[in-house]
Amino acid sequence: MSLAIKPRPPLEGQHFHVVIIGGGINGVAVARECARAGKRTLLVEQNDFASGVTSRSTRIIHGGLRYLEHGELGLVRESVRERERLLRERSHLVHPVHFLFLLNERSQRSALKVRAGLWLYQRIAGRKSADLSEMELKRVERALDAGQQWSIFNYEDAQCEFPERLVAEWMMEAAEAGAVVRNHCEVLAVNVTQGRAQGVLLRDRISGKDERVDAGWILNCTGPWADRICQRSSVHTSKPMLGGVRGSHIVLSRFSGAPSSALYTEAADGRPVFVLPWNEQVLVGTTEVADTADPAKTAPSNEEIEYLLRTVAKLFPKAKISAHDIKYAFAGVRPLPNSPGNAASAVTRRHFLHDHTPDGAARLISVIGGKLTTAASLARECARKIGIAVPEPTLVAMGPGGSLDPMLDQEVLEIARAGSVSEETARGIMEWHGQRAMDIARMALVSAELRAPVCPHSSHIVAEVVEAYRREFAVTLGDVLLRRVPVALGACWSESCSREAGLRIGAVLGWNEQALGSNLESFETERTAFLKQPARGASALEAAAD
Ligand SMILES: Cc1cc2nc3c(=O)[nH]c(=O)nc-3n(C[C@H](O)[C@H](O)[C@H](O)COP(=O)(O)OP(=O)(O)OC[C@H]3O[C@@H](n4cnc5c(N)ncnc54)[C@H](O)[C@@H]3O)c2cc1C
Repeated sequence: MSLAIKPRPPLEGQHFHVVIIGGGINGVAVARECARAGKRTLLVEQNDFASGVTSRSTRIIHGGLRYLEHGELGLVRESVRERERLLRERSHLVHPVHFLFLLNERSQRSALKVRAGLWLYQRIAGRKSADLSEMELKRVERALDAGQQWSIFNYEDAQCEFPERLVAEWMMEAAEAGAVVRNHCEVLAVNVTQGRAQGVLLRDRISGKDERVDAGWILNCTGPWADRICQRSSVHTSKPMLGGVRGSHIVLSRFSGAPSSALYTEAADGRPVFVLPWNEQVLVGTTEVADTADPAKTAPSNEEIEYLLRTVAKLFPKAKISAHDIKYAFAGVRPLPNSPGNAASAVTRRHFLHDHTPDGAARLISVIGGKLTTAASLARECARKIGIAVPEPTLVAMGPGGSLDPMLDQEVLEIARAGSVSEETARGIMEWHGQRAMDIARMALVSAELRAPVCPHSSHIVAEVVEAYRREFAVTLGDVLLRRVPVALGACWSESCSREAGLRIGAVLGWNEQALGSNLESFETERTAFLKQPARGASALEAAAD
């Protein structure tokens, strides 16, 4: 089987009803909405879909309990509604998760305030959370620092462990509805003449070719890059639209006593911090640091890593967590609205649509802010803004604590049988590919090479990789292993896994030694830039757990 990257059809001179710049969760959601309405749609992404902030988030699909503190009831209502919709419609990717809100005598929030907030949160959701088992509660209590007096509150939110996969699904739905989607294709500038945005100048980063397309509307969905697009197009806003705030995470190996529920607590400075079970590891985040540099180059500082490590180590002293437990750290820049003088935590997490007509660029709209959770509602709003009539979807109510479409063991068995793969592999394929799982299983049946695990420690198989290149618009090995089949975010991944995966994938795709070498080299460059290894031996880090 040879899957050489086919040259992409030229775009030069084409006219689109709407061009969407940026293939993060927001841009992809907007493209899907416009294409489904029958509009000729082009989605362009300079790197890969979901490679920006979307893959650098805490991955919680939440109503925003914290927004109640800032009186943002409207945002909480919208977020809760969207959370329920995702739980119902994407139950293979979005799961309910128990959260434990932990307070001790030093916490800045009072138990009374938290109790009242949780009561209101459940009222807005219109359903009661499922109760956490006594056993898990006791387990967490035993693992926590016994020298402190803990008050523990239980509530429910949701988690999308792999928003990269959600974006891949929405992107394919956009393409199936007729959108032209291009990753590794950068918008160099928006062409503005006579007070109106007329089109864009693109550079295909694969072919190196520049092309111009015309557009009726241009939507700037570039998240933290939004001001840069305007600057390079000479569209002058009265002040910067964004006030970028970096948020970092550390990923730890699972430690003894690590909770299977998610924890929401305060760091020593009173800032909220999450400790979440994620991808068979523990995800700890996040920080808030002003960052206006190039979002593509953002990285966690040693101070942020130390802050997060110290917070989690203090919480679980018996686990003796140290810098050696950190698998990697990563950071993203929140595209928050510019709010000079406000603390980052107090800046609204609502999104805004900035119409550039007063800036001399009619028909150019910039999307500012937003969350994973509310991307679909943001997309409907964007589509309406450009004159597309989008009805508000109806919502089926859910019972306590569950999704309507739990994965059925029976389906897992059918997939295992159809692909002649283990139940573990079948479940993994279902979890990442939902309705496409059966197609992948049938492909896997064709050969032992396609059924082979991507690396010896993974249950995910080479057939999923082929699907990524064939149907999910993956171009590079990084697109595959970091986002479509994101095994490289796993607990075991190392450079030798990359080499083993490269060999197995290359054997199916017909890579020669040179192709293998160049694929691996660019993959390792991307992986190490994104997933930062903390500087071991740095004295501050070593001391963090003391
Ligand atoms: C630390 C952190 C934690 C978060 N946690 C959560 C959470 O738990 N839950 C939640 O709901 N939300 C969370 N968020 C918010 C959420 O991740 C973001 O709001 C959301 O991902 C923004 O998506 P986006 O599509 O606007 O931006 P992005 O995902 O950054 O997409 C923008 C894209 O535009 C592309 N682009 C830029 N310039 C160009 C160009 N010239 N040409 C073509 N393409 C271009 C970029 O490459 C990028 O892929 C978090 C954010 C951060 C930073």
